[in-house]
Amino acid sequence: MAEKKDYYEVLGVAKDANEKDIKSAYRKLAMKYHPDKSDAPDAEERFKELSEAYAVLSDAEKRQKYDQFGHAGINGQYSQEDLFKGVNFEDLLRGFGFGGSSGGGGDSIFDMFFGGGRGGRGPARGRDLRYDVNLTLEQAATGLEMTIDVPRTETCPTCSGSGSKPGSKPVVCSTCRGTGQVTRAQNTPFGQIVTSAACGKCGGRGQIITNPCSECSGAGKVRKTRKINIKIPQGVEDGQHLKLRNQGDSAGPSGESGDLYVVLNIMPHPQFQRQDSDLFLEAPISITQAALGADVEVPTLNGRAKIKVPAGTQTGSVFRLRGKGMPRLQGLGSGDLHVRVKVKTPAALTDRQKQLMEALAAEFGEKKRAQSEKEKSIIDKIVDEVKSAVQ
Ligand SMILES: [Zn+2]
Ligand SMILES: [Zn+2]
Repeated sequence: MAEKKDYYEVLGVAKDANEKDIKSAYRKLAMKYHPDKSDAPDAEERFKELSEAYAVLSDAEKRQKYDQFGHAGINGQYSQEDLFKGVNFEDLLRGFGFGGSSGGGGDSIFDMFFGGGRGGRGPARGRDLRYDVNLTLEQAATGLEMTIDVPRTETCPTCSGSGSKPGSKPVVCSTCRGTGQVTRAQNTPFGQIVTSAACGKCGGRGQIITNPCSECSGAGKVRKTRKINIKIPQGVEDGQHLKLRNQGDSAGPSGESGDLYVVLNIMPHPQFQRQDSDLFLEAPISITQAALGADVEVPTLNGRAKIKVPAGTQTGSVFRLRGKGMPRLQGLGSGDLHVRVKVKTPAALTDRQKQLMEALAAEFGEKKRAQSEKEKSIIDKIVDEVKSAVQ
């Protein structure tokens, strides 16, 4: 595959070009290479290239991803549709003689990008497919290769999509004489009305299969479940997708297959929360660890690590472990793990622990709760009850 050109170079603008520069560069070049205006053999290619560059650089978020990760930040992260979403090419090019839908019949620039299909000049294109994959956070962190079973429509291998038994040929439909359309003229008080509809005899195909293929019964297509190997890079985010070109449904013998979009869903983790490449974890520490300081072991995505809790740490303090977060795409290092400590108040003290706590309380000069005789007896009762329940 040819190296993809830098978007800034494609538009001939500087890396720090502002929105206005980008727009005017695009308009100038788009006018030059618009396939309706240019005779250059590579006009359409150039025009697509320009438009893609514009779609990315005119969108703050996509531009930032591109600046950070290059084409890798764009390819595979956005579908064609997402890539061009929000760009109104018709509006941009208006006033240059390209109006809205001058071509009629859905010949808009968009059909060029999305292979819009029906009745257009371009060849038919198969349906795009979506396949969802659930990943654990650990899998998203390491990346992985896996095989998925994708049910899809393929061109029948026996008849190569013709629908006829090998060795036989379909015959031209006698009703529509191969056009696939029948027209009917009707005389009405307002004049003649001509309607045209798909030919009923051949189903609009213009041909009749007299000797259908035994594998596809004449449909020319078969359903197959294909094992497809996919490679998920490390650091992917929830909702991102991989695009596998031409792995979608077949369009028949002459068209291009659609694409397969593998959507990655990352399941919630019981311990870690993720924000971009950073991870967040809540770790309990004891009252004494908080007061005296301690080395506390905490889990990481791929093992364990230690945080140094200094003496006098308050609940809610956050400790950062650099590089222990999620790896970033394209091997650009890893984020951090943020550990938020929570001081656990001991709930069930032994008699000895209670004595020590009381001694500590006395040392702090804390007064014991003043208790009336009556209250005391109630509390004592409860204590007795609790004790007997525990035993
Ligand atoms: Zn067949
Ligand atoms: Zn017909």
